[in-house]
Amino acid sequence: MRTDSDAASRGAGLYHGARPPAPAPGAGAPVYLDHNATSRVRPEVVETVAEAMRETGNASSAHAAGRRARARVDDARREVAALVGAAPGQVVFTSGGTEACNQALRPCDPARTLVSAVEHPAVLEACPGAARIPVDGDGVVDLGALEAACAGRAPGWVAVMLANNETGVVQPVAEAARIAHRFGARLHCDAVQAAGRMAVDFQALGADTMAVSAHKLGGPQGVGALVVRDDGAVQGLLRGGGQERGLRGGTEGVAQIAGFGAAAALARDGAGGGARLRDGIERALAAAAPGFRVFGAGAPRLPNTSRMLMPGVPADIQVIALDLAGIAVSAGSACSTGRAEPPHALAAMGVPEDEARCALRVSLGWDSTEGDAARFTAAWLDVWARCGALREAG
Ligand code: PLP
Repeated sequence: MRTDSDAASRGAGLYHGARPPAPAPGAGAPVYLDHNATSRVRPEVVETVAEAMRETGNASSAHAAGRRARARVDDARREVAALVGAAPGQVVFTSGGTEACNQALRPCDPARTLVSAVEHPAVLEACPGAARIPVDGDGVVDLGALEAACAGRAPGWVAVMLANNETGVVQPVAEAARIAHRFGARLHCDAVQAAGRMAVDFQALGADTMAVSAHKLGGPQGVGALVVRDDGAVQGLLRGGGQERGLRGGTEGVAQIAGFGAAAALARDGAGGGARLRDGIERALAAAAPGFRVFGAGAPRLPNTSRMLMPGVPADIQVIALDLAGIAVSAGSACSTGRAEPPHALAAMGVPEDEARCALRVSLGWDSTEGDAARFTAAWLDVWARCGALREAG
């Protein structure tokens, strides 16, 4: 299984390290529909980061410059907390979602840890050997199986993500937390894809720790947070300096954190948009392409994500063809050698491997337009028509 981020692994896999081809002449302005890999940074965030970088100051210094840096970090902490329904004092800034999940789960005993089968590698590989709780055909975690596993294993920790990065399927985290707590376990929630795209309420979900990441919601890459209900429940991965209440040593990245705060404030104002564009794409493709299917369509999903089947056409071929048309979307996972692996979330849902390999991920974002959706729909249908021979051969 890949160990790097969604975007890095996919990019490396498709072109095997070669320079990506230039868009075909006349392809039009680029259309970016890969926000689950990383979202375009909002212009206001760029300004905030630049402004913070123009100032000097370590947030731990006592002088005025240090106090100004501290104020930026504190402001951002308030914004991030407000975005996810937490108290500012529960937010620990990290280098991103991967670090946050590792901080929560690395110290856990795998024999006493349960994770949903569709978790991101940031969770799965933070606690390898943890038992996996199955999901149904729509990718929703089986709460009966969770309860049975809790009864059999006396777990210390349970991990259930809020929204899946591959399908957008939203998990019943509050119910999972109630089950975990009933058996004396704590619950970690990976909300990296959910924050900024749906309402997230740390308190109401009952999670004990929650991971969020700035670059999925229009903020900078390389900054995120672990939200912590009880500081005693987690340990610092990085020691030294005592920053972040001793839970994350190292000088705070003031500019990145300020950018995270700005992005969180904008996302909270509801600029993320609803499911109208995504649903329009799905309806148009379903009407025109026999065999088209959306994975996880029977479950609640993030409004921006569609994992869709173009039968008989491998997703990496779809990605290259769409890239040549100036449209950025994503195929399944790819390991570091560039060999495509069937996405593990789809495998856990029981999707046959030949279908999983033909499943494209489209993820819209705060800057997506009707025009983008129309360009994608037309280009997808063009690839579909041109790959008719491939389909018949398959
Ligand atoms: N969790 C999920 C669900 C993700 O989609 C990602 C990134 O793709 C991560 C965790 C890791 O976050 P980051 O890229 O900030 O390390």
